[in-house]
Amino acid sequence: MEFDVVVVGCGPVGALTANLLGARGVRTLVVERDTAPHRQPRAFSCDDEALRIYQQAGLLTEVAGDMHQPRRAEYVNAKGRAFATIALDEVDFGLGHRPLHFFDQPRLEAALRAGFDRFPHVTLRTGVELMRLTQDEGAATVTLRDLATDEETEVRAKYVLGCDGARSTTRVAAGIALTGSSYAEPWLAVSGDVAPGAVRVPTTTFVCDWRRPAFVSPGAFDTYRLEFMLRPDEDPADMTGPGAVARLVAPYVDPDRFTVTRAIVYTFHHLVAERWRDRRVFLLGDAAHQMPPFLGQGLCSGLRDAANLTWKLALALESDAPGSLLDSYEAERRPHTEAMALTSVRLGRVFLVRNRFAAFLRDVVLRAVQAVPRVRRLVRHFEFKPLPALPDGRVMFPQPEVVVGGVRRLLDDVLGPDFAVLGPGVDGSTARDWSGPRARFLRVVAEGRPRTEDDLVDVTGELTAWFARHRTDVVVLRPDRFVHTDQVRKTQ
Ligand SMILES: Cc1cc2nc3c(=O)[nH]c(=O)nc-3n(C[C@H](O)[C@H](O)[C@H](O)COP(=O)(O)OP(=O)(O)OC[C@H]3O[C@@H](n4cnc5c(N)ncnc54)[C@H](O)[C@@H]3O)c2cc1C
Repeated sequence: MEFDVVVVGCGPVGALTANLLGARGVRTLVVERDTAPHRQPRAFSCDDEALRIYQQAGLLTEVAGDMHQPRRAEYVNAKGRAFATIALDEVDFGLGHRPLHFFDQPRLEAALRAGFDRFPHVTLRTGVELMRLTQDEGAATVTLRDLATDEETEVRAKYVLGCDGARSTTRVAAGIALTGSSYAEPWLAVSGDVAPGAVRVPTTTFVCDWRRPAFVSPGAFDTYRLEFMLRPDEDPADMTGPGAVARLVAPYVDPDRFTVTRAIVYTFHHLVAERWRDRRVFLLGDAAHQMPPFLGQGLCSGLRDAANLTWKLALALESDAPGSLLDSYEAERRPHTEAMALTSVRLGRVFLVRNRFAAFLRDVVLRAVQAVPRVRRLVRHFEFKPLPALPDGRVMFPQPEVVVGGVRRLLDDVLGPDFAVLGPGVDGSTARDWSGPRARFLRVVAEGRPRTEDDLVDVTGELTAWFARHRTDVVVLRPDRFVHTDQVRKTQ
């Protein structure tokens, strides 16, 4: 077998997946039907966890360097008065990055694809589509068609990852059904470049106007994104014309100084694949789940899939990892994705009220409940967003800056790609007694305490506080930086 893994689809999820596999030395073939990356921006925002995953792929600077970080997001009523604010500049979930970023999807995808150049064992074939797939005891066989020559070839690999989007051929070929529902209302999404002084609403805003719900925000690289719900009597074809677009965008950007790069109509879905695995075949990203975009989590959820599955696949390929390790992919990812989708649907209910009286009630109630400090904090500090946690309650480990050997860096950059065993209780015997997979061992020392060159100095105090709160002095972290166990002896 020339390849260990075939990744079907080189959208953002497939491209990130191949980078994460490449970084672990996995021989990977990526096949993509289109000959060039998408020119059109679709996903627009990503969160701190997504950035931590790009960081794990070694692409943080390339991908995130130019992202736009909004300071706050507002929910305003039909009169433009804010009834809820998410104060993003007051939010820090402790993962090492700001909680919300806006990016340009074509640039993001180009940076992810450029990442393949680092790995001679990652091959991208564009203009090639998956036609069929079969599985036997030892491998999966994919039939690929070159769209230029119509020639079909077969490739055998240990695993096939369906990152081929909402209409996934992989999912269909594996006989996996989608369940859920689709929203009837069409939306118009408009993206464009703004000239200096063109922006009339500079804040990320959910316009909860019962006559025309909309989302508007400045983006990266002097762009502006607007999404408008269309009314039943509006013909989508008319609404994408220059006149209609100019009328809609005018309250937010000056149409004369706004160059539209994209105006398309689409509908939302809340769908999930019945199974995310069929023996050697796995589904990731939109192939596995699609959710409404009100929380900006569609793509982020796909990135989490990639971070969860790739280290497990690498372990399974290089050792006799138990079969349950690969089964844990769906078991761990499905509940979190469903929680994100549900929160997104609930936000949509607040946002999409289409009746004047109901909208009035919503505005009054939401303003009133925020008089309760706990509720106000929940909204203002974005605490309604589901935390990165596994179903058994294990959490993602914080990522403060630390100092090792006199150099200050983000924690993950020190820990490297494997398991990590760290804490104030790590000593010479910890590594000697360890019988788990490849791991890095680091003693955590509070700032100002005696230390050696190899110790990890907790200059912010966050790690010391974490260990005190969890009443432990050693923690084992998985490669995706979720806590594996906080009692090292359990793993041995
Ligand atoms: C209007 C809109 C706004 C959104 N905003 C956000 C947001 O702000 N934040 C966010 O996180 N998400 C957002 N999303 C969701 C996000 O765009 C998707 O979740 C994300 O693009 C999915 O990525 P993917 O790689 O799984 O699939 P895709 O991007 O669809 O990529 C799949 C790839 O597979 C290829 N392919 C398909 N079939 C085959 C085949 N048989 N053989 C070979 N190749 C194949 C396709 O050509 C494509 O390149 C939004 C979505 C929409 C529609």
